[in-house]
Amino acid sequence: MALIVHKYGGTSMGSPERIRNVAKRVAKWVRAGHQLVVVPSAMSGETNRLLGLAKELSPATSTPELLRELDMIASTGEQVSSGLLAIALQAEGVPSVSYAGWQVAIATDSSFTKARIESIDGERVRGDLAAGKVVVITGFQGVDSQGHITTLGRGGSDTSAVAVAAALHADECLIYTDVDGVYTTDPRIVPDARRLTSISFEEMLEMASLGSKVLQIRSVEFAGKYRVRLRVLSSFTPWDIDITEEAKSGTLITFEEDEKMEQAVVSGIAFNRDEAKISLMGVTDKPGIAHLILGPVAEANIDVDVIIQNVSHDGRTDFSFTVHRNDFARTMDLLKTQVVPATGATAVIGDAKICKVSIVGIGMRSHVGVASRMFSVLSQEGINIQMITTSEIKTSVVIDEKYMELAVRALHKAFDLDQPPVAA
Ligand code: ADP
Ligand code: ASP
Ligand code: MG
Repeated sequence: MALIVHKYGGTSMGSPERIRNVAKRVAKWVRAGHQLVVVPSAMSGETNRLLGLAKELSPATSTPELLRELDMIASTGEQVSSGLLAIALQAEGVPSVSYAGWQVAIATDSSFTKARIESIDGERVRGDLAAGKVVVITGFQGVDSQGHITTLGRGGSDTSAVAVAAALHADECLIYTDVDGVYTTDPRIVPDARRLTSISFEEMLEMASLGSKVLQIRSVEFAGKYRVRLRVLSSFTPWDIDITEEAKSGTLITFEEDEKMEQAVVSGIAFNRDEAKISLMGVTDKPGIAHLILGPVAEANIDVDVIIQNVSHDGRTDFSFTVHRNDFARTMDLLKTQVVPATGATAVIGDAKICKVSIVGIGMRSHVGVASRMFSVLSQEGINIQMITTSEIKTSVVIDEKYMELAVRALHKAFDLDQPPVAA
């Protein structure tokens, strides 16, 4: 007997029929002798619908009071799907109970709309499991120390599931979704993308942080920190397929490099259209300038991603950086009111129509010339690179948003990601 956590995404929970299928699949695992905790997302489209209702009533974006209410509203989507799944399980003859985050409790900090899980009390859940029940726990939500409901950021049910698996020392966490695993890139953009049977934890972390929405980044961080065995697989296979076959399907996130079966230099391509670029022109080039510019941005709790400072001419330089598009307007305001006067900048230029495309692979550690190959492929397509950033196992470029799909397809082909890997 194993303790297994299943997570089902929005599409997998998208209708009563699909919820019934999820219940039948879970029942199959229970009948095979396992203890099951299930973490569902809201039904597809529901979180957007709920947040859309709030937007109709308030044009404000991010006052603390508003953010608190957004979490109050958005968290209800998961509450509905959890209750529905518990009912569907009971209809299958499987004893089951559902809990909201605060009932478990899943304790978080108070950063409404992007809260971090601090601890999970497993006692109640363990009691139910021991009593033979399947426990359904809402994804995406928790509760802060004041009893306020919080949510974990979009896609946060992945993180709920992995954190629950870590807290309960589960044997495995299975993330059921609408694709049958992690691909070399988003199969919606590149139909030739290939499913990876395994991907190293480090590569998955980079892919998720660089925009691959198949797993929320924090779920991968949790898996790494607590060594949770994590697998991404399809919820659209027939529910009654052989359980042994199902348990081996999809993509396993591995922690051992040796276990990595596919030794390509570049393992995957990620992209992100959620960023915006801001340039401050003609700032005085003197010690402390980066702090003068980015200090107020950090104080406003705005995350900065790529940063570039140009070579200076006549004591002046241009300084560019990217932020999340949701923070674009706020950052522009802040620069104009606080930073321009302090730095003597001659202009602030904003561009929200950019995207970041990244190649990822642990093979990049031991191979030279991979980044320059990327630049050459992009130049052959006539794509201008606006910013570059690299780390040991990734190279990212910021380009005009309109070239995103072209860039991803060209790179996918150039690095042979559409071909089966050569055995190592
Ligand atoms: P869920 O609702 O199940 O959480 P998501 O929409 O959050 O599903 O994540 C699954 C989607 O992630 C897929 O439909 C796919 O379009 C997208 N995706 C992006 N990058 C990848 C990738 N490298 N491999 C697989 N899917 C990816
Ligand atoms: N329902 C939430 C969202 O749409 C959380 C999730 O699906 O993981 O972002
Ligand atoms: Mg998701």
